[in-house]
Amino acid sequence: MKFNPADDIQDLQYFGEFGGVNPSISDSSTYTFLSAKTMFDTFEGNADGCYLYSRHSSPSNLYLGQALAAMEGTEAANVSASGMGAISPTLLQLCGSGDHIVSSRTIYGGTYAFLKNFCPRLGIKTTFVDITKMDKVEAAITPDTKVLYCETVSNPLLEIADIASLSKIAKKHNLKLVVDNTFSPLSVSPAKLGADIVIHSLTKYINGSSDTLGGVTCASQEFIDSLRNVNNGANMLLGPTMDSLRSASVMKNLRTLHIRMKQHSQNAMYLAEHFEKDGLKVVYPGLKSHSGHHLYANMINPEYGFGGMITLDVGTLDKANELMELMQSRKLGYLAVSLGFYKTLFSAPGTSTSSEIPIEEQEEIGLTDGLIRFSIGLDNNIERTYQMMKDCMTELEILKMESAIN
Ligand SMILES: *Cc1c(COP(=O)(O)O)cnc(C)c1O
Repeated sequence: MKFNPADDIQDLQYFGEFGGVNPSISDSSTYTFLSAKTMFDTFEGNADGCYLYSRHSSPSNLYLGQALAAMEGTEAANVSASGMGAISPTLLQLCGSGDHIVSSRTIYGGTYAFLKNFCPRLGIKTTFVDITKMDKVEAAITPDTKVLYCETVSNPLLEIADIASLSKIAKKHNLKLVVDNTFSPLSVSPAKLGADIVIHSLTKYINGSSDTLGGVTCASQEFIDSLRNVNNGANMLLGPTMDSLRSASVMKNLRTLHIRMKQHSQNAMYLAEHFEKDGLKVVYPGLKSHSGHHLYANMINPEYGFGGMITLDVGTLDKANELMELMQSRKLGYLAVSLGFYKTLFSAPGTSTSSEIPIEEQEEIGLTDGLIRFSIGLDNNIERTYQMMKDCMTELEILKMESAIN
């Protein structure tokens, strides 16, 4: 049977201490041992089912990790306190002084800043490339390269990475392919396409209620063990540990992810199709006009659709700001960064989430001034939302009168 990530999450069962339908929350930082010998074995990593100290692991974090490993089809996973708390330690576990990374140039602003500004202090260099051009990717690889890094759907330009082809290049040059799958949980299963390590910011779709940060690294048991190693594990030693109360709440939200993703995708598709018909400059991977549409259509688990992210170019930053303020006053969404909330969120990436990228580079990658990034919400009546958004655009003359009448 074909891999379906939601089924694998559905089949996991954890009972609480008193038979509860939710697992008990491990509300402890430290754990007792009946015998001193077991404590020593736990330190050495040889005592299964024993816990030492919650920075290393806790029952609640292991439950959530197992569920996310099931979702991505990897052997194991390690949760952390934020997406960056998963990304930075993962890359530092894979690379040291003298090593080199080849990364997509259109990635999350924080990851870009980490690779560009922080990693060089540790002697790790990065070459940024257009990830959709396989010849450019391969040409950037040097004998020091250890990692190939990309996002399945890039932020904010929604470029699609051909994970299967990138995996072939990674295998040929003995690199680890690390994929940030934050924009496309359930829709795409990068490990099934050949990625070695899959990362998420749980802050976005997976938690989905904009009430906490969280992150996860999904990979082989061997790599996850290395992240937690008491002597040289980046997660253990840098300490970006998620709190047990939070991992329990993220776990409960994960249960509805499949329903939410379908609704996000359906709503985004409706708006993208209608905005395009209205003659607006809209980017959405579900549209045939998107350069990565065919590639993406072949990569996704179709029932979850093309995701909830849309970008719209309204010409100038002033127009973008006016439109966002008007839409917010009409209760169509919030002028806020982040994504995956029940309510639509919109922001101008050039001055917010991607402001770490210098202006010249923003221009080069097509990140224009008038670009608005939408995370489309779970609106019950998307036709009504569309009409209201269209009214805002007509009022601000983003949409000309003729098309508004049609
Ligand atoms: C938000 C985000 C991150 C960072 O996650 P945090 O939880 O904010 O640390 C990384 N990658 C992508 C694609 C994101 O959208």
